[in-house]
Amino acid sequence: MNLRIGIGFDSHEFQEGKPLILGGVRIEFPKGLKGHSDGDALLHAITDALLGALGEPDIGELFPDKDPRWKDADSKVFLLEALRRMEQRGYRIVNLDCVIVADQPRISPYKESIRKSLSELLRVPQESISIKGKSREGFCMDDGLACLCTILLIYEG
Ligand SMILES: [Zn+2]
Repeated sequence: MNLRIGIGFDSHEFQEGKPLILGGVRIEFPKGLKGHSDGDALLHAITDALLGALGEPDIGELFPDKDPRWKDADSKVFLLEALRRMEQRGYRIVNLDCVIVADQPRISPYKESIRKSLSELLRVPQESISIKGKSREGFCMDDGLACLCTILLIYEG
């Protein structure tokens, strides 16, 4: 069986005065996500799921936050590098399933635009991408958000 599965998790604190970007989509919210890059926790979780499925080094090892090259970087750069490694190894994405845990902002109005953005970035049909918004219900921090992603890859040679 030429299937590989990966899991990714990422969380960031909110930061005033920074745009909020999730899955490459600008979300209307007074705070963005703190981090060395643009803080796109969803793209970071997907990148790590992809790298994990391949058994490659994780996002922090490939793109250390001490490295000035990645300061304020567009997180699409990280994702595209993971995709390049996947393609080089002869795999393609079967589907991915993502959860965004946040009390604020509400994710549901943005679900479809996030799916569309991911579909274009990952070059997979929107039907193969699931985005779920969950409220925190007592889980960890209330001044930030967390994203989880599982991804399935198939070897095509
Ligand atoms: Zn991150």
